[in-house]
Amino acid sequence: MKTNKRKVLREAIETYGRERQIDKAIEEMSELTKALLKDRHGNGNHDTEVAEEIADVLIMVEQLIMIYDNEEEVDKHTNRKISRLTRRFPNGFGKLEEQELPERV
Ligand SMILES: [Mg+2]
Repeated sequence: MKTNKRKVLREAIETYGRERQIDKAIEEMSELTKALLKDRHGNGNHDTEVAEEIADVLIMVEQLIMIYDNEEEVDKHTNRKISRLTRRFPNGFGKLEEQELPERV
């Protein structure tokens, strides 16, 4: 993450506090859930709303990583999960029907 962005997010955590930012993360994840549901089941185009809510969630996830001070651990889990996903699709996407169904992530 860029230093300036990190500084701003750190300031948000210091200003509003850890608990409030965790609550805000929960709230933003809920807003993204609602936007995705609207996009899947509603009428019209909700791409802009989905993009905005994804941005909100990414901002809050960055703050959660700072709050829990677990960037290394999150990276480790992310790499392991991507690696596992890569092994499930050795022939590339679209060939899943020829393979055993994957376990849930
Ligand atoms: Mg939002």
